[in-house]
Amino acid sequence: MDIKVIQTQNSKIDQLDFNNIPFGKVFTDHMLVADYINGEWTNVVIKPFENVSLHPGNAALHYGQSIFEGMKANRTPDGNPILFRADKHLERINASARRMCMPEVPEELFMEGLKKLVYVDREWIPSLEGCSLYIRPFMFATDEFLGVKASDTYKFMILLLPVGRYYTAPVKLKAEDKYVRAVQGGVGEAKTSGNYAASLKPALDAKKQGYDQVMWLDGKEFKYIQEVGTMNIFFVIGDKIITPETDGAILKGITRDSIITILKDKGYNLEIRPVTIQEIVAAGESGELKEVFGTGTAAVVSNVCEISYMDKTIKLDTSKSGISEMLYDTIDGIKKLTIEDKYGWVEVVTAEELDLVAQ
Ligand SMILES: *Cc1c(COP(=O)(O)O)cnc(C)c1O
Repeated sequence: MDIKVIQTQNSKIDQLDFNNIPFGKVFTDHMLVADYINGEWTNVVIKPFENVSLHPGNAALHYGQSIFEGMKANRTPDGNPILFRADKHLERINASARRMCMPEVPEELFMEGLKKLVYVDREWIPSLEGCSLYIRPFMFATDEFLGVKASDTYKFMILLLPVGRYYTAPVKLKAEDKYVRAVQGGVGEAKTSGNYAASLKPALDAKKQGYDQVMWLDGKEFKYIQEVGTMNIFFVIGDKIITPETDGAILKGITRDSIITILKDKGYNLEIRPVTIQEIVAAGESGELKEVFGTGTAAVVSNVCEISYMDKTIKLDTSKSGISEMLYDTIDGIKKLTIEDKYGWVEVVTAEELDLVAQ
């Protein structure tokens, strides 16, 4: 695929304080844009970061056809980008696309576009502990038409953001007994914008009550634990590690998948099955609940120090979080190639591979 690169004439990189990077606010110099018109992807270009102009009747704004991914890159000591499980993110954006009646992103467009873009902006990849380059591929409808139907045209874009740590402290969760995130048959498995819009009110209410995040329960019985805000969830009870089985309403996290692979490989006693909130509360009260942690690209592995459910509160001693620490260190090490990548998860992007030397 021939992806044109238009280099910026005025880089903003000097304005970034790499020792103090806020999450989600700083964008790199370039972005990738592609248009889906007449049934094919065209106008693929990497160009200086700029606003996009939209018709006020834009279909995504009114009817919500919008999907995204979140992934991360680090750098080798000599500055080449290292991608983590990019193939899985491509698979998932296309699963989201199918659910939302949107066109799939071809592998060449996603992979070559992604690699070229991170290479062009490689100076933006932070190397400090806990920092990385956050990658946001996304797609939205662009038809200029008010009426409920799948759009005929779309934009696919990739943005890059240098980021610091997502959560700096262990999180307090509220098991939500009034609102739901997703139900079976809905769009909970798709990484679509509306899922987050629906979560804002419950998250705000939980914050007002002193919690950091909502822990979602199933939408039928308010009994089975689904996930947390932007993370999947794991519980260590006695010598077992338990995580909810994905049931069509839970987002299939790629970090979750990596953690399952690592735990199985290291011989841990792992159970992937429905988990009730009652079981967790009981394990907390009996002292058998040793660790609880959330997993996701943004936070990697994040310890939970408290779970509240109705009138009960379970507190966890996060100074004894051996398993979550081991998992964080393993994933973080593989992502930076300071630990051997025996699962074949990472890929180093080089100029030779991209044919960028000539440009
Ligand atoms: C993206 C996301 C996750 C985590 O997925 P990763 O692939 O591990 O980043 C978990 N839950 C929700 C709702 C998400 O949107």
